[in-house]
Amino acid sequence: MTPSYIGRFAPSPSGPLHMGSLVAAMASYLDAKAHSGLWLLRLEDLDFDRNVAGADQEILTTLQRCGMRWDGEVTWQSKRQALYEAAFARLGGQVYPCACSRKEIADSRLHTSDIAHGPAARVYPGKCRNGLPPGRKARAYRLRVPLQPHEVIRFQDHWHGEMMQDLTSEVGDFVLRRADGYWAYQLAVVVDDAAQGITHVVRGADLLDSTARQIYLQRLLGLPQPAYLHVPVVTNTEGEKLSKQTGAAAFDLGLTPQGLLQHALLPAAAFLGIEITGVYTIEEFWTRAVTAWNLQLRKPSGLRAS
Ligand code: GLU
Repeated sequence: MTPSYIGRFAPSPSGPLHMGSLVAAMASYLDAKAHSGLWLLRLEDLDFDRNVAGADQEILTTLQRCGMRWDGEVTWQSKRQALYEAAFARLGGQVYPCACSRKEIADSRLHTSDIAHGPAARVYPGKCRNGLPPGRKARAYRLRVPLQPHEVIRFQDHWHGEMMQDLTSEVGDFVLRRADGYWAYQLAVVVDDAAQGITHVVRGADLLDSTARQIYLQRLLGLPQPAYLHVPVVTNTEGEKLSKQTGAAAFDLGLTPQGLLQHALLPAAAFLGIEITGVYTIEEFWTRAVTAWNLQLRKPSGLRAS
């Protein structure tokens, strides 16, 4: 029998787990457990320039020490590239080569009225849409987003409610294969979520903005659309998303279970709006947290932590 809930945590091994990534891991784990579902673990290691040697193993160790057990085998995107190639090939003429460098794209905007005016300012101006300019070589490969009528994607986010993005005016033709030859996150994540039968995607709200692109790709490839839930992201005092680049501290692997509870699990849960007091073991923590997560999801979205 196919399980009715398959969730996943999909970290990029660009550094060890920190409070920001633990919150995303915890939310997806709690949601899977609250639905008696499976929780898969996928290492998104396609950006070979950002992978940090050993970070994948460190992430696995931290999750295990925090009492988060995944189902089945861990997958590594770097070992699944044939799948991305096949999906890319299926898109055929909907994908086109693009010769533009980032600088050219930025410069071309200097002559349009779009400049620095909100989301439209990052839309690809479409220079290579009808063919590469003479003498220019392909760098990246982009997916066409229809110009007329606009491609407007609506979806229900189980934390934020109704969401909508006009892909034509807010995103434009987006990259599926990068200039460095690596597969773009948007393509790989869609292919893997479908191949692994993921029914529920629970992740940080920094990826809310990618969801419409992923739904569009799912539709083109004839793949099912999972349910989405995006939890708030942890920021530093400057309001930047916690990441290795913004100086997030990794968890000390020398911490005792008590230390992990106090310094990792309870604060991450509190960030998700789950206040738990008087727990002494990691096991007890998870039992209480799953119940609290269920209650949290019954609240109207405006009353949740944000
Ligand atoms: N690998 C992505 C990250 O670490 C997350 C991808 C996802 O959950 O869709 O930010």
